Amino acid sequence: MKFKTVLLFGPPGAGKGTQGKVLGSIPNFFHMACGDVFRSLTVDSALGRKFLEYSSKGELVPDEYTVQLWRNSIEKKIQAGQFVPERDTLVLDGLPRSVPQAELLQDALNVQAVFALYCPDRRKLVERLQRRALRDNRLDDASLQVIDHRLRLYEIETEPVLNFYGEDFVHRIDATNPPVVVLHDLLSIVSGRERDPEHELAEVEDH
Ligand code: ADP
Repeated sequence: MKFKTVLLFGPPGAGKGTQGKVLGSIPNFFHMACGDVFRSLTVDSALGRKFLEYSSKGELVPDEYTVQLWRNSIEKKIQAGQFVPERDTLVLDGLPRSVPQAELLQDALNVQAVFALYCPDRRKLVERLQRRALRDNRLDDASLQVIDHRLRLYEIETEPVLNFYGEDFVHRIDATNPPVVVLHDLLSIVSGRERDPEHELAEVEDH
C-alpha cells in the first residue's frame, strides 16, 4: 500500500520542522522528520555512528541507508498504531532529499502535494540555525562551515527533486514570513484539497 503523503521541502532553517509538527498535531495527519529518525538512533548502533559521521560534516547520509531506516521506522509507527495509513496523511519532512531517494520511495509514497519553503535571505537562515544550535543542542548547527555546506547541498542535491515531482505538485511558500503566516499558506492549500476531492492530483507517474 502506498501512503498518502505531503512533502515538506526547504533549506535548513526554513522551518520545515516547525510547520511539520503543527500539521502533524491535526487529526488524521502524521508528521515524520527524517532528521529526527536519525537523531533517535544511539551511537552504539552502526547506523547511529554512520549518521554522526555524515551529519557532523553536513553531508547527506547515503541514500540506501536513509530509505531503509525510514522504511523500518514507519513500519514501527504503523505497528504501534501511531500512523494509520488507511486514515492518515503522512507529512514527510526532510525526505526525499535527493533524486535517487525520490526514486527509491516511489513504491511507498502516493505524493499529493509538495511544499517548498523558500527563503531568499540566506542570513536569516544562518541566524535561525545558529540559534537552534544551542536551543536544540545541534552540533551540525554550531559551525558556519557546516551550515554553509548544508545550504549548498540543498541547492545541488535536493532542489532537483522538485522537478522530479513536477510543477503541478509543487507549491512554493515564502518562509521569511512569520510562522503563523507560513502555516496559513500551507493550511489554505491542504484544507482546499481536503474539501474538494476533485482537486486531488493524479499520482506521480513512475519515471
Ligand atoms: P535540517 O533542518 O538542517 O535540514 P535535518 O534534521 O532535516 O536538518 O537533518 C539533519 C541531518 O540528518 C542532515 O544534515 C543529514 O546528515 C541527515 N539527513 C536528514 N535527512 C536526510 C536524508 N533524507 N538523506 C540523507 N541524510 C539526511
